[in-house]
Amino acid sequence: MSAQLMSGTALARQIVERCALRAQALFEEHGVRPALATVLVGDDPASVTYVTMKRNRSAKAGIDSRLVRLPAETTTAELVAAVRALSDDPGVHGILLQHPVPAHIDERAAFEAIAPAKDVDGVTMHSFAAMAFGEPGFASCTPGGIIRLLDAHGVELSGRQAVVVGRSPILGKPMGMLLLARDATVTYCHSRTVDLASHLAAADIVVAAVGRPEFIKGHDLKPGAVVVDAGYNPGNVGDVDFAGAMERAALVTPVPGGVGPMTIAVLLEQTVDAAERVLFNL
Ligand code: NAP
Repeated sequence: MSAQLMSGTALARQIVERCALRAQALFEEHGVRPALATVLVGDDPASVTYVTMKRNRSAKAGIDSRLVRLPAETTTAELVAAVRALSDDPGVHGILLQHPVPAHIDERAAFEAIAPAKDVDGVTMHSFAAMAFGEPGFASCTPGGIIRLLDAHGVELSGRQAVVVGRSPILGKPMGMLLLARDATVTYCHSRTVDLASHLAAADIVVAAVGRPEFIKGHDLKPGAVVVDAGYNPGNVGDVDFAGAMERAALVTPVPGGVGPMTIAVLLEQTVDAAERVLFNL
C-alpha cells in the first residue's frame, strides 16, 4: 500500500489568505489592525526560527507583530510581569509565549498571565477547560490545526480508535480532548505506557507528539491507519518513520509541510478572531 499525503501547506495558505482579507476589512472599515505580541525568552535557535516564521506569516496576513525578547536569565516574576503588561495593553489582540522557556522559569505561571481573551495560542487553563467543555474559546493551535487537516481530508473521527502518543499540555492533552469532542475513542500513550505497540496496532488514527525522531515505525501501524506526525526534530525529521508509514498507512502527514503550517495558520486566524471579538463585543 502507498499512503496518500495529508499536506498542510495548501490548506494553511487558504486559511492565511482568508485571514488577510478579514484583517484588511478590519483596517479599512474600522481602522483596527489585528496585533500579535510574541514573547521569546533566550535564544534557542529552534525557537528563534519558529518566531521568525510566525512573524513573517503575520506580516503576509496583514497582522501587526510585536516581538518582546527577553534574556535567558529572565526570572519567572519578570516574565509574568512582561506578559501581564501585554494582557493589559489594548493595542495587543493576541499573545504568544514561545514554548519552551528556559528550565528555571515556571512556564505554567507565565502562560496563566495571558488574558484568556488574548490567548490565541490556546495555552491557558481557561482555554483548555473551554475546549474540553465545548465552550467558546481559543483552541490549542497545533491540535486545532490537526483537526482542520483531518476534516479537510475527509477523515471520519466518530467511533474510531484514536491513539495520541504524548500528553504535553500544549499538544498531546488538548489533541485527545478535541478528538474526544468529535466522538473518537481516545487512548493517551506516554513514557510510562506499557506495550505501546499493542495500542498502535489497534489505532485507526495515530497522532505522534513525542519529540523523538522516527520513534513510530511503519510496522507499528495498523494497515490503512491515518497518521498525523506532529513531531519536529532537528533535520526536518518527524516522530514517525515516514517511508515506513507510507508503506502501511492510508494517509500520512509529511514533515515538514504537514502539521507545522497548520499551527501557524490557526494562530493567525485566532488573532483575527480576537481582534473582531474586541471590536464587535462578541
Ligand atoms: P514534550 O512536552 O516533550 O512531550 C513529549 C511527550 O512524549 C510526553 O508526554 C512524554 O511522556 C511522551 N514520551 C516521551 N517518551 C516516550 C516514549 N518512549 N513512549 C511514549 N511517549 C513518550 O513535547 P511537546 O511539546 O508535546 O512536542 C512533541 C513534539 O511535537 C516535538 O517534536 C515538538 O517539536 C513538536 N511540536 C510541533 C509543533 C508544530 O507546530 N508542528 C508544535 C508543538 C510541538 P511523559 O508525559 O510521560 O513524559
